[in-house]
Amino acid sequence: MSDSTDRQWLRRSVGVLQQEAARSADTHLLRLSLARFPGIDFYFKDEASHPSGSLKHRLARSLYLYALCNGRLAQGQAVVDASSGSTAISEAWFARLLGLPFSAVMPACTAPAKIQAVRALGGRCELLTDPAAVPAHAAAMAAAGACHLDQFGMAERATDWRGNNNIAESIIAQMSLEPHPQPTWIVCGAGTGGTSATIGRYLRYRGLATRLCVAEPSGAAFAVGWQTRSRDARASSCTLIEGIGRASVEPSFLFEVVDKVIEVDDAQSVAATWLLTELLGNRYGGSSGTNLIACLQLAEAMCERGESGSIVSLLCDRGERYAETLFDVDWLAQRGIDPRAELARLRERVGPGPHC
Ligand SMILES: *Cc1c(COP(=O)(O)O)cnc(C)c1O
Repeated sequence: MSDSTDRQWLRRSVGVLQQEAARSADTHLLRLSLARFPGIDFYFKDEASHPSGSLKHRLARSLYLYALCNGRLAQGQAVVDASSGSTAISEAWFARLLGLPFSAVMPACTAPAKIQAVRALGGRCELLTDPAAVPAHAAAMAAAGACHLDQFGMAERATDWRGNNNIAESIIAQMSLEPHPQPTWIVCGAGTGGTSATIGRYLRYRGLATRLCVAEPSGAAFAVGWQTRSRDARASSCTLIEGIGRASVEPSFLFEVVDKVIEVDDAQSVAATWLLTELLGNRYGGSSGTNLIACLQLAEAMCERGESGSIVSLLCDRGERYAETLFDVDWLAQRGIDPRAELARLRERVGPGPHC
């Protein structure tokens, strides 16, 4: 292929991504008032409402743009990434838009609905029984000529952290007319670490007093590494919550921009995921529940100190993806979790409705 046809395809592909971004609306910032926290306003940014169903829609758009503009992705080239599901779905969505063949390397235990979603978008799934073998398999496919989008390696640099409608800029703009427009806390999870890196950098760039809290499954690598700023940290336990709770410190984890880490047990995350359905009328995924628990803990500490203010967090993906897992009582029981008692305690903790 000649240089000029290459550049023509590149220009067209960048244009396709820009058109998609221009067609997209921003995601809603949903407000919640909880009876037990009269002075505190809660906001949840509904990242499930992206066309590909999660906050990974933003990341996938950025990763393709980054690969294209770095000259790493050419017409007809195979695209690959290692993913626990949400990223794969968004990457498959953009691969279809760009007319590129896409393969996702994922653990075989990934929620079935996510695997189906990748396939329905025309992507291939390479399912590995050993989750630890996933990165090496993706790297091998890249060595054989595929473009490795590399969400874990590239997340923090592929996103324009100063602005360009990144998630942080969008949150701060959407808060502008609220009673407490500068949030006391923003709470998010760490999967690739891209979201926390973008928010943490943006808060510093804008000179805001808002602090950033990472909500993390108990014992996972961000929490362990953040305490000591150690990049060799390993998780001391594994989690049922997909998308977050990594086994080791990922390249895009930026510990320095995170002010606090709150660790949440899976049983609490699951119960909070169920509670979100009651509070918001839609099902969201497990990491959204983890975020909610961290928000409640921060709000309780604010109340004790007599502070008022706002706390912003994210609804990371759609709950439909977990119908056979986190929303299935038998599946949960097999893993030693019965969320009903915890759900009752959580209802007490937020107080009676209405919540908006
Ligand atoms: C990726 C992911 C996260 C964490 O976001 P990062 O920006 O990758 O750290 C949280 N929840 C879900 C469902 C995800 O897929």
